[in-house]
Amino acid sequence: MISEKVQRIGASPTLKISAKAKAMKAEGLDVIDLSVGEPDFPTPENVKDAGIKAIRDNFTKYTENDGVPALRKAIAQRLKEDHGLEYSPKEIIVSAGAKASLFHLVQTLVDEGEEVIIPAPFWVTYPECVNLAKGKSVVVPTREEDGFLLTPEALKAAISPATKALILNNPSNPTGAAYGRDKLLALAEVIRGEDIYVIADEIYDKLVYDNFKFTSFAALGEDIKKKTVIVNGVSKAYSMTGWRIGFAAGPAEIIGGMSKIQSHTTSNACSIAQKASLEAYNGPQHDVQKMVAEFQRRRNFCLMRLATVPGLSCFKPQGAFYLFPNVKSFYDKEFGGARIRNSYGMAYYLLKEAKVAIVPGDSFGADDYIRLSYATSMENLEKSMDRIVEALAKLKTAKKTRRVALNNTVTRVRKAVPVEAAVDGRMRDALVAEMEGHLGYEGRYEWNANINGAIVQLRTNVGHLNDFWTENWPPAQLDADVEPHGVIYAVDGIAGREPRAFYNPETRTGVLVNTDSYGPLRSLALGLALDIAERMAGAGGAGSVRGMSADIGGDGLILVGPPGTKKSELLFGLLADPRFRIHANDIVFVRLAGGRAAADSAERKLYMPTNTVELDGRLAPLFDKSRCENVVIRKEDCTDAGCQRGEDCRLDRGSPYCYKASKDAHALLDPSWLGGPSAFVRRTNLRWIFLLRNDDTSPAVVELSKEEALRVLEAGEAAGAKKSLTPGKAQPFFNPHWLGAGRGEAAMADAGRLESQKAFFGRLLEVAKCYLFNSGVAGADKIKEIVGK
Ligand code: PMP
Repeated sequence: MISEKVQRIGASPTLKISAKAKAMKAEGLDVIDLSVGEPDFPTPENVKDAGIKAIRDNFTKYTENDGVPALRKAIAQRLKEDHGLEYSPKEIIVSAGAKASLFHLVQTLVDEGEEVIIPAPFWVTYPECVNLAKGKSVVVPTREEDGFLLTPEALKAAISPATKALILNNPSNPTGAAYGRDKLLALAEVIRGEDIYVIADEIYDKLVYDNFKFTSFAALGEDIKKKTVIVNGVSKAYSMTGWRIGFAAGPAEIIGGMSKIQSHTTSNACSIAQKASLEAYNGPQHDVQKMVAEFQRRRNFCLMRLATVPGLSCFKPQGAFYLFPNVKSFYDKEFGGARIRNSYGMAYYLLKEAKVAIVPGDSFGADDYIRLSYATSMENLEKSMDRIVEALAKLKTAKKTRRVALNNTVTRVRKAVPVEAAVDGRMRDALVAEMEGHLGYEGRYEWNANINGAIVQLRTNVGHLNDFWTENWPPAQLDADVEPHGVIYAVDGIAGREPRAFYNPETRTGVLVNTDSYGPLRSLALGLALDIAERMAGAGGAGSVRGMSADIGGDGLILVGPPGTKKSELLFGLLADPRFRIHANDIVFVRLAGGRAAADSAERKLYMPTNTVELDGRLAPLFDKSRCENVVIRKEDCTDAGCQRGEDCRLDRGSPYCYKASKDAHALLDPSWLGGPSAFVRRTNLRWIFLLRNDDTSPAVVELSKEEALRVLEAGEAAGAKKSLTPGKAQPFFNPHWLGAGRGEAAMADAGRLESQKAFFGRLLEVAKCYLFNSGVAGADKIKEIVGK
């Protein structure tokens, strides 16, 4: 498992989107990429020559950690000429791009829990830098009406005793907003009175338009200079993004800290690129001026084109090379059935419909906007503006849409709950009295289910549990004089109680407190029915196998293993072959008689995790018609971190729900919907048991002796499995529903049940062959080979 702090960060969205645009181009699609932040100009010839000369001169070894002295001197000279600033070489560090400087700087300044103020819209990297330093980003929104500039009032209000620094990006990526000297002075006034640093990211200092006069934050006074670290580099102004040279200039103590970190990360920046950068800073500067003039022309062109789009407004930037148009008025419009809900949806739409890659504003903390870069050729800009204008014109106000009426219940509790599996009679009586007290008669549901022949009565006050219960099990007689074999109370809304399950074996009473989702109820019901089945058969004559099973020609196979061993994938792999029929997707009840293992699926429906949609194209439309539970309908509830950050989230694109966004979402699927009554069976004769593991190295299949199989089953963990069900804890027979040993202290003493379970598996293994199967190296075809089909 990777660290939590890294799990929490996302890869740079701009890099991801441009990678996608590149991939689409490689497929032959005419995509125009307005997502990348780099000039389309070549690196100036004199700069390239200096790099080539460095190679010829064998300047290809480690340099000084902080950068070659000549380059640091040239940087100091530039800062003096451009901004009137004096820095000694000790106050300057050269790094592998401004990004590396920024990262080392934040690591140097920020301790765990310290706050960094970041005005929004912000460049995507700032908050992640702070996260990786375990600091806390304090995002301060700016307003378009204020020119996207941080006001002194907002800055003051954001400062707390924990504030360590402000990151001020001038001119700004993504808005292009630039702070003039007066605005900066007003912010400096606030900084003066506080013990905080300013990280001045001035990488776009040379890219300013309309005669804007750039002022460095450090140039606002000696006292301010002492609190400021400038970050800059050659990437943007000299068209050198790939050379990876940036720098930081600030107080020697801070630069010294950064130097220590750099000595353990990258060491010096590339020697060749340093020589080229030296030429960039020392050589003639007219290429920069030419580029700026061209960018201004492109900016004006794009602004002019976007101004013609009804409903779109665009701030006129004074620097950098981005436009940040407000596209909110298009949200909730649609084209061809695709509804746009937010900036991700807009980015997706423009990529698909206009073949133009842009970055969603949400990545920069401003969801009403999108960012497009005009640092690409005029030809590309002309084409892409035509396409954007055309695509936006196609978006129409969505008709009152026929909402797909998903039959979905979102519950409060979503996970398994702790089970006390052997409460004594006194406690049982107390629990029943408490439950009855809460249930009363109004709003009480009672229903007898037939679970593998046992009549189990549910008494609940949760309508959703009653719905799933009555649908999932065959009904049993519901006359007053039919005594159920077991009873389950499922009572919600009891103040002060944690969600919990209890079971009293003597009276076969289950109690489920404050749990409104079906999973725990179903599990308790299965455990109760198993207890009954085992006792009735006696001496290991009946039992259960927890796994996914399929039938072929009357013979059954079952896939057993902890999560992560690809049970579903294998099952659906088998079902793709019409000779295989689905039997059960979670548990089978087995009776041993006459040298056969008759395995029954006790449920009418398959309680199926909806994230299986990807395994079989038939599933999604079937789930649409099934009763569902906890299907994700809001992006906030999505737990699929990988997909969530992708640019094609279904929820963003207007889908009212997503089946794969959570492991806790289930549907009650009618198995006959998977291909008619002949595609599933309720009973099969179990002949093959596949104990699954998933690794890269073990052999695909190992046939196990009865003793070996028993050992693996009892331990409850297939050898070499990547994940176990409850890490560190054995799950006897891989069966979390089984209410025997392993469920609480008292149950551990229930050696009788463990023995009878062992006896059952011993007998089962006389009639069914058992294999250790490695799903990491073999798939459904291998299973077919083994079962001889
Ligand atoms: N700061 C800002 C605001 C940027 O936009 C970028 C590049 N996108 C950088 C820093 C990093 O530049 P470099 O290529 O030097 O790492």
